[in-house]
Amino acid sequence: MIIAIDGPSGAGKSTLGKMLAKEFGLLYLDTGAMYRAAALAVLRAGISPEDREKVARIAQNAKIELVGEPDSMRVLLDGDDVTSEIRTPEAATAASVVSAISEVRKIMVEHQRAIGENAENGCVLEGRDIGSVVFPNADIKFFLTAKPEARARRRFAEDQAKGRSTSYEQTLDEINKRDERDVSRSDSPLTIPQNAAVIDTSELELADVFDLMLVKIRALSKASAQK
Ligand code: C5P
Repeated sequence: MIIAIDGPSGAGKSTLGKMLAKEFGLLYLDTGAMYRAAALAVLRAGISPEDREKVARIAQNAKIELVGEPDSMRVLLDGDDVTSEIRTPEAATAASVVSAISEVRKIMVEHQRAIGENAENGCVLEGRDIGSVVFPNADIKFFLTAKPEARARRRFAEDQAKGRSTSYEQTLDEINKRDERDVSRSDSPLTIPQNAAVIDTSELELADVFDLMLVKIRALSKASAQK
């Protein structure tokens, strides 16, 4: 079973993706973490994230691995644990810039398909183009969204809990800029994939969104079993 979860940042994709992976015993793949690791490789090499050719070469050669259980997943870049480093605002911005480069997307998409196809019981993938590009035939597609203010509030609370010094205004500004880049890029812009169940999480508790997703998955599984 392939479950695709797309949507803008801060809509709850990661938390809910992990919950679903645990519920159904599936592999969990955070594709944003892969773009972030590629972006970090670019920053570490001292290359501008806008330099398409050099960035593509770095993305091609970088060894990006996601290891461990969903809740304690580690991200390795060329064997180096970069789990925390990829979460900085600098890495987020660089990821959103390098992810607009088609050559980079091609490399990441191939990698993601291989991981999803080889997952023994199936996979939950979350990102921006999963249901539209990576797995257009996914068994179930979700598009999670929320108002920018709600997403910024959540991200800000997460950052504070992790001891990062930032302000709500900065977080909102960063989210708006990333959204703008994600929806306006020419290759695989963020869109609602065909047949996706759209859930606006602005006013919902996590548990309620999870229940909605479970209902949808069970209804679809039942329908396909009856076919
Ligand atoms: O999901 P996350 O915020 O970690 O992703 C970082 C950036 O990577 C996003 O802002 C987006 O530009 C890019 N991304 C993407 N396609 C994906 C996942 C992430 O373009 N499937």
